[in-house]
Amino acid sequence: MRLTPICRWCGQGPLRPRYSFAASGLAAELGCGPFHLHACQACGAWQVNPHPGPEAAKKFFASPERWQTSLDPDNRPVSPLERAESRRQEYWQYAKALQKWLPESGAVMDVGAGVGLLLSLLGDCGRTKVAVEPNGFAADKAADRGLVVLRSWAEDLAAPKSPLAALIMNQTLDHLPRPDIFLTQARNWLAPGGLLLLGGLINPSCLMARIHGPSFRLFHPFHQVYPTPKAVDKVLAPYGFELVALWRPYFRTPYGSASKFAEALGQTFLKLVHLAPDQPSRAFPGNTVTYLYRKKILYRTIKVKEPAHSSI
Ligand SMILES: [Zn+2]
Repeated sequence: MRLTPICRWCGQGPLRPRYSFAASGLAAELGCGPFHLHACQACGAWQVNPHPGPEAAKKFFASPERWQTSLDPDNRPVSPLERAESRRQEYWQYAKALQKWLPESGAVMDVGAGVGLLLSLLGDCGRTKVAVEPNGFAADKAADRGLVVLRSWAEDLAAPKSPLAALIMNQTLDHLPRPDIFLTQARNWLAPGGLLLLGGLINPSCLMARIHGPSFRLFHPFHQVYPTPKAVDKVLAPYGFELVALWRPYFRTPYGSASKFAEALGQTFLKLVHLAPDQPSRAFPGNTVTYLYRKKILYRTIKVKEPAHSSI
């Protein structure tokens, strides 16, 4: 575990302690507990600090058990391919928005592409589609979909040879130990008008996190950074990015339905009246947010006032 004294989202601070947890499962085996959540006073992003560095993160995500049938947060056994496929409806929304806003040229790169479902939903968009995925099983499945595959971790990526039309970080960016460093580099990889899709960022200011506090179901040592929508904009706007679309995925995910929504409301009501047993909060709209940003095309002419008389 590493201590970073500044905010790993905006680079400022100071950081204020919020909650402390005992890590469980593989995170505990890797020596990642107890873990502590801090909130940045400058931007509002929450973060695990001390945090798992790149070596621990790579061990965690390279673990074979991540690519076996496992229990999801609702205790349902699902295989990795089923896990990806269950997000098809949700990802389809993102693919349609990307198709609509893609600039005229450039490749589309998905970092942490998994089995390549989102890229494949872009269809024949006339672009090179690059899936960056370190795991061999997932990379093979992405290659089977006809994608160009790069076996690499996000932090080890070299800059692309030509500007990208779109960079996708779907359920990836918040797993990086230093998302601030990655974004500072990757923003330069995009062409003017290029798109940045940040998918599945956990919002610590959402209703469930506010009500359930430390029992919020998505707090985990390998969910390393939790930017609020304001914190996302605070970091991306000065880089010249404008928000194009925003989603709070729920009903199109495997965790959302009318009956589950009602159950979550019931559990939350019992929590508010102090009658709920101590259990993790349920999935709910707004727990995670997906953002589509576009790098502005700047057409600014700087007019220089000519001096009345030349000094020469
Ligand atoms: Zn910050």
